Amino acid sequence: MTKQLIDTFGRIHDNLRVSVTDRCNIRCFYCMPETDVKFQPREQLLTFEEIERFVSIAARLGVRKVRVTGGEPLLRKNLSTLIRKLAAIEGIEDLALTTNGVLLAQQAAELYDAGLRRINVHLDTLDRERFRQITRRDDFDRVMEGIETCRRLGYGPIKINVVAVKNLIEPDIVPLARFGRERDIEIRYIEFMPLDAQGLWERGRVLLADDMIAMLEREIGALEEIPDRDPRAPASEYRFVDGIGRVGFIASVSRPFCLNCNRLRITADGQLRYCLFAVEETDIRALIRRQASDEEIAEAVAGSVRAKWLGHEINTARFVAPPRPMYSIGG
Ligand code: SAM
Ligand code: SF4
Repeated sequence: MTKQLIDTFGRIHDNLRVSVTDRCNIRCFYCMPETDVKFQPREQLLTFEEIERFVSIAARLGVRKVRVTGGEPLLRKNLSTLIRKLAAIEGIEDLALTTNGVLLAQQAAELYDAGLRRINVHLDTLDRERFRQITRRDDFDRVMEGIETCRRLGYGPIKINVVAVKNLIEPDIVPLARFGRERDIEIRYIEFMPLDAQGLWERGRVLLADDMIAMLEREIGALEEIPDRDPRAPASEYRFVDGIGRVGFIASVSRPFCLNCNRLRITADGQLRYCLFAVEETDIRALIRRQASDEEIAEAVAGSVRAKWLGHEINTARFVAPPRPMYSIGG
């Protein structure tokens, strides 16, 4: 079996995002429609055993980091059972979870016991009313409680994901950074990407990293880029010069990081994608369910990596949004 997943541009792929469901308990407008969402039937989702097998094969191909995501991963029944399985796979050095936090207070202890330590909680605002406007649900208090529970249990690092939509979340940029500084939580601002189910995205609605940096420096204080960070990490990371707190920017639109990309994704229904914006997929579920050997599955993964393009073309007229929205890919 190949020992590393290297594409035709020399990029080594050691980072895998595993989506465990396309369902969600809230309805962020930049991700999901408000009503009539079509979810995949249960039998089309990979089982925990199938996910475990796929991740073990990926680990033998050099994958070292796994992030569990969705949809909302905490909606997948008995998620801690999967976390325990993934944490035990030889070669996986780094296991993380991305969640909207609504069910976190209930599940954080169980997930911690199963071996989870790194967690990203998605929270765009500290204002309850704006939270309701963005998510079309009234779960702000539950998310806050989830974050506090993780701090109490000793999770680390805890990060907060903020989707940066222009003419909407400007009032939240600085309060969130202050919130993070007071709690040793890194705030990651993610430029709004064209992956929403309703096709609302337009360039003019992206709040750009440079504008957010200017706001933070004006209101809080100077930022400096953190040296010696992993050059393949998607976020540009900064710390406040006064030594208190850090922030990150995932600037897919204004600072595309495709040249350093090391990521693969598998959707909840078992489709392997070499890019968030890919239009083609490799059907791993079909291989698993027709009893393909580990070697055949490994070859399919290597083939997907070999087919990987240089990068998305959000900034060109050629850009075509992928047929699946964010909740169905696994952000
Ligand atoms: N439900 C979980 C959550 O919200 O964190 C995990 C899945 S969600 C699709 C993963 C991340 O995608 C979220 O943390 C959110 O920050 C990000 N996201 C969703 N839609 C986005 C969009 N249109 N542009 C940029 N980021 C987006
Ligand atoms: Fe759900 Fe996450 Fe999409 Fe929001 S971003 S609708 S929490 S999957």
